[in-house]
Amino acid sequence: MITEQQARQHIVELLEYIGDDPTREGLQGTPDRMLRMFNEIFRGYDPARKPTITTFQNGRDGIIYDDMIIDKGNFYSLCEHHCRTIFGEYYFAYIPNPKGRILGLSKIGRVVDYCSSRLQIQERLARDIVNMLQEALGTEYPPQGIALVLKGRHMCKESRGARKEGHMISSCLIGDFRDDPATRAEFMRFVNND
Ligand SMILES: [Zn+2]
Repeated sequence: MITEQQARQHIVELLEYIGDDPTREGLQGTPDRMLRMFNEIFRGYDPARKPTITTFQNGRDGIIYDDMIIDKGNFYSLCEHHCRTIFGEYYFAYIPNPKGRILGLSKIGRVVDYCSSRLQIQERLARDIVNMLQEALGTEYPPQGIALVLKGRHMCKESRGARKEGHMISSCLIGDFRDDPATRAEFMRFVNND
């Protein structure tokens, strides 16, 4: 287990390694700022900081929801190969089970943020998000389908190395989104037209 003091010292050494002077005025607070930033952007390693995912019983308000529900938003993560930013949009959809649970919409973004807050590859990030939401919806009456598409831009490819546009699309489709072409097409139309 590495202490905060040791981590700070390693950052000082890295600043020296890249050719800068860690003692100059502009860099004096940098190791501490980086540690505070790590605490935020890498909180996804700490199970105690997992978001609680509120769900509701379908039909609770007298209406049974069994149509596609879609949520979209942004994500920011870091690639595990270069520790460079991956950012982009996520598109999440699910079809509730009439006897199952409904997700609180704001919770989807929280799960995306939590799973993004560790070193990732885009494919695993998609998996992690879907697994957590799937778990929250329960296995007794699982949703009829779950879909997630991530449209990511990879700074490790755009700002270094190949210096080419680093666009990447990954998806994770379960249930009707995998098995029913019409359902998948409806969702993909939304994703592609956005
Ligand atoms: Zn990378």
